[in-house]
Amino acid sequence: MNIRSTAAALILCLGAVSTVSAAESVNVYSYRQPFLIEPIIESFTKQTGIEVNTVFAKKGLVERLKSEGKNSPADLLLTSNFSNLQAAVAADVTQPVSSEILEANIPSEFRAPDGMWFGLTNRARLIVVSKDRMTQARPTRYEDLANPVYKGKICTRSAKHSYMVALTASVIAHSGSDTARDWLSGMKENLARKPQGNDRAQVKAISEGECDIAIINSYYMGAMLADKEQTAWANSVDLIFPNQADRGTHMNISGVALTKSAPNKDNAIKLMEFLTSAEAQQHYADVNHEYPVNQSVKPSALVQSWGEFTYDTLSLEQIAKFRNDASRMADEVNYDN
Ligand code: FE
Repeated sequence: MNIRSTAAALILCLGAVSTVSAAESVNVYSYRQPFLIEPIIESFTKQTGIEVNTVFAKKGLVERLKSEGKNSPADLLLTSNFSNLQAAVAADVTQPVSSEILEANIPSEFRAPDGMWFGLTNRARLIVVSKDRMTQARPTRYEDLANPVYKGKICTRSAKHSYMVALTASVIAHSGSDTARDWLSGMKENLARKPQGNDRAQVKAISEGECDIAIINSYYMGAMLADKEQTAWANSVDLIFPNQADRGTHMNISGVALTKSAPNKDNAIKLMEFLTSAEAQQHYADVNHEYPVNQSVKPSALVQSWGEFTYDTLSLEQIAKFRNDASRMADEVNYDN
């Protein structure tokens, strides 16, 4: 190498170093899985030059933020459901964000009024019924699941699980505690078996004839159809979008929050905004069969094939107020035992 090319290499190298040392980075703690998040992050880095360092974990990230306190390196918390966002706010490890882009891209019911959390994807909580055995008198509302005509036909997971707690909380928010308690205990009376397993396990139980009706998040249909061992489970049921004639189908979100400690706040907000862009939203929709929160983006072809539906527009913030009541109610009616 001659002197001139060495100097050129040195300048190139310094250039590269100065980009990095200017702290053009953002640190993410993610409950969402790598297969979903990594392609979006790579594209963000390519377009902005901002490096993203991600810690993936299934549990404990809110606790970790709390114990790290103001020294936490994390800028963003990505969650796969609303309850973890709420837990982060309750643990006082988030800070509010004001962004015209986020406000334009996310309907108001799917973000905190104070900017403490933002929904990124949506899922519908569906009723599924056996194609073969439920040819008549199908339920059309969540409330129908308490009707004695369905005695011995229903399978659900634990009423203490966050998806079920959120659904019960939404019934309380709309109809009050007394109505919700009657509903939950009526549904318990109709159970074919003790609550167990995850959402997919309920569909499996229908395919195996253990029960005829279940409640699941919409994206699991996509996941089961993509898994050779589970395709038959998915194909054994029809989907029902509940409460179309009244308040609409209950929705839940995955989302993001800016941490209180965020050392790279500006870059973090850029990444938050990117996550709501058409490109990122299309990726979430196509890879995980979730509904984009950005209403300008279409769901995957599979999800579109289920048709349009009315969803419950009561804000998640309002519904969340009743989560503790909902969880207690599950114990009061002895749902899981
Ligand atoms: Fe899930």
